[in-house]
Amino acid sequence: MARLLLDPKKHKNYAFNGCVTCDAKCCGSNIVYSSIFDLKEASALFPILFYISDGRISPVYFFYYGEATEEKCPYLNGNLCSVYERRPYACRSYPFSFEQGKPCFDDGCPRVGRLENGGNPLFNSQNKLDSRVISEFVGETFAKEKEKIFASSKQFVDFCLSNNFLVPYTSFYKDNSLYMNFKPTLVEHLYMLHPQRIGVMRMQNKELFTGHDDFFQYIMMIIASHKNIETLFSLKKV
Ligand code: SF4
Ligand code: SF4
Repeated sequence: MARLLLDPKKHKNYAFNGCVTCDAKCCGSNIVYSSIFDLKEASALFPILFYISDGRISPVYFFYYGEATEEKCPYLNGNLCSVYERRPYACRSYPFSFEQGKPCFDDGCPRVGRLENGGNPLFNSQNKLDSRVISEFVGETFAKEKEKIFASSKQFVDFCLSNNFLVPYTSFYKDNSLYMNFKPTLVEHLYMLHPQRIGVMRMQNKELFTGHDDFFQYIMMIIASHKNIETLFSLKKV
């Protein structure tokens, strides 16, 4: 599956055709892209790591489900989401998302296709995302505040990098150092939760966050979110 930029010229005659007959393909990936916008909801359910693409910090996060890429989200029960009411924004907005501030869709969703096959058009006559796409997927608040959300996401990741909170997770992702996590040397206690050596840390340098109370909150949420690795693995055993 790949995220493709939504281009009004290219996708003028594209539509979304509803989820009714789909067997929840979107819950079959081992990563879900997200943003700081839904950090609170997401961190309550998933461990959160960072993703850096093309040498740039992309203001997205992802939720890691497990080692095998073909595994499904452990919250998927049959074709239904067992945490539907509190599923993260990334799940609510799927197949639509934003990459570097630009709207995208995931070509892995089988129900995005040509308008002649029916469904709700993706663009209106002014070549803007259709209002139904916004109200049902993107969300009015997100659409209105997206520039602010992207800017604060980037600021947060920059803050983490400049203060050495983030390091490439090379020990686990041997062939790919793009995945980032918090730096273990900042750890007061590092709990090893799994042979993957993903740890939970407690912050020592709280004074670094003076004037950045919101960042501190985000970091605490991300740290707490790593406890979900245990939850996810115990869910899989069931
Ligand atoms: S968003 Fe797409 S992949 Fe997900 S359930 Fe709906 S049709 Fe299927
Ligand atoms: S949380 Fe729910 S909607 Fe999101 S990937 Fe998991 S099963 Fe699907």
